[in-house]
Amino acid sequence: MLLSLPANTPLSLLNKTFGYESFRDGQQEVIDACLAGQDSLVLMPTGGGKSLCYQIPALLQSHITVVVTPLLSLMKDQVDQLLELGIAAAFINSQQDRQEQIQVLNQVQHGEVKIIYVSPERLLQPSFMDHLKFCGVSLFAIDEAHCLSHWGHDFRQDYLRLHCIKPNFPNTPIMALTATADKATRHDISYQLQLQDPFIHVGSFDRPNLRYTIEEKFKPLNQLLTFLGTQSDNCGIVYCSSRARVDDITAKLQAKGFKAEAYHAGWDTAHRIAVQDKFQRDDIEIVVATIAFGMGINKPNIRFVVHYDLAKTIENYYQETGRAGRDGLPAECLLFFDSADVPRVKRMISDNPNEDRAKVELQRFNAMVALADAQTCRRQVLLNYFNEYNNHTCGNCDICLDPPKSFDGTLLAQQALSCVYRSGQQFGVGHVIDILRGSQNVRIKDHGHDKLSTYGIGKDQSQEYWLSIMRQLIHQGLVEQDISQGSRLLLTEKSRPYLKSEKILDLAVPRIGRTHLYEKPAK
Ligand code: ADP
Ligand code: ZN
Repeated sequence: MLLSLPANTPLSLLNKTFGYESFRDGQQEVIDACLAGQDSLVLMPTGGGKSLCYQIPALLQSHITVVVTPLLSLMKDQVDQLLELGIAAAFINSQQDRQEQIQVLNQVQHGEVKIIYVSPERLLQPSFMDHLKFCGVSLFAIDEAHCLSHWGHDFRQDYLRLHCIKPNFPNTPIMALTATADKATRHDISYQLQLQDPFIHVGSFDRPNLRYTIEEKFKPLNQLLTFLGTQSDNCGIVYCSSRARVDDITAKLQAKGFKAEAYHAGWDTAHRIAVQDKFQRDDIEIVVATIAFGMGINKPNIRFVVHYDLAKTIENYYQETGRAGRDGLPAECLLFFDSADVPRVKRMISDNPNEDRAKVELQRFNAMVALADAQTCRRQVLLNYFNEYNNHTCGNCDICLDPPKSFDGTLLAQQALSCVYRSGQQFGVGHVIDILRGSQNVRIKDHGHDKLSTYGIGKDQSQEYWLSIMRQLIHQGLVEQDISQGSRLLLTEKSRPYLKSEKILDLAVPRIGRTHLYEKPAK
């Protein structure tokens, strides 16, 4: 008599095939909904375990599971991993020659493949669709589904055409997966894919092992070097806002002996692939990159992500920092913030001829600025942005670890303001600080500014310290920068009561040189 084997369940597959003990938050529910034939929308942070949500159902159903993903490189990785676990997986894309493609199609036809990864354009080829209709599909999983959203940071035209899956396969569930959580994107995905009453899972976006630090930007290269000095041979990414800066910083880090390489869209494909491979294999420590370096990096032990410049949106910041610490061990996220960058970025955004788009981007950028400017727990601000309300502070960000302090800055403000006044309101921040600190430079002498009563009255404080004070005075509207005239400083009406000691001015103690925040053994 034949003994009937116990039927596989999601949990038994998780244990036996994948070797994991228990499901993570949301996985079981998503899998159950899928097995019940329901569409679903899965929002989980990067590293949250989205893949298992469709890989397990794939093994429990009679027909094939089609996974749509935009990244060719990732397809191969995923398939290799599955094959290693003994799961019949394959991929089909334009990089394969005809022979290989035919072979895969044959395997599909003979039911020898449980999971197939395809690019959107491949899926939508009529012959391929017919092939799938003939063989039957148990599930469509749309990975990186935010590529469907116009408002998303990775919009892809070919993703839009995925709307024709539903009409062609009305009885096959669709599972859309993404790590982007905002409401507009969520709505777009659901609408475009024509999801029917989807099961929605929104996972927690908190990444407790990431430490968020936002530093005022003074001399960013020095700040970066100081930070890297605390990281021994850890590896990480340094994001910059332009290609030129990427190349510049890379050269400087290399000159200092760091194993660093540049990555941006200006480099040819061969270079980019080589850099990614070397990074993956730990042959280099640091990739200096524009945001072109991102999707598809699957390296668990990235220990730090530095933003040399402000990120454009919180989504971007979250995605980019999210590449650190995927192994769950402590990792550092450090951003350098100079409020002077804000108007420049705003102008660039407003230049977009598409006004609606510019408006949305501006809102998103303002939220990022608010995060950089925040005087409260960074993680709270971040999670609130993703509609995840949290009423306790995290204990693992710069604000929690080193709370901002304020002090009576009236005297300092008077010194700075009268220095602006006495030098005729003709000079920028740098020069005014030089006067205050009693600099010997030629320009000071040439203008006779070493004769001013304010010359050298602030020499006990560092350049950075004064810069922070000046920025606060600008921020509070006591002085203005006249952009048309070389950013010379002008006193405003608002400064008057402080100069006359009629009012007291609260300032934040400048936060300089906070390397102690990073000093921890993270290997
Ligand atoms: P995502 O696609 O959401 O970025 P992945 O699916 O790549 O994340 O999963 C991230 C890591 O977590 C992988 O190494 C995966 O094997 C692991 N993982 C997923 N689910 C579990 C689980 N239930 N228990 C343990 N590890 C898991
Ligand atoms: Zn915090």
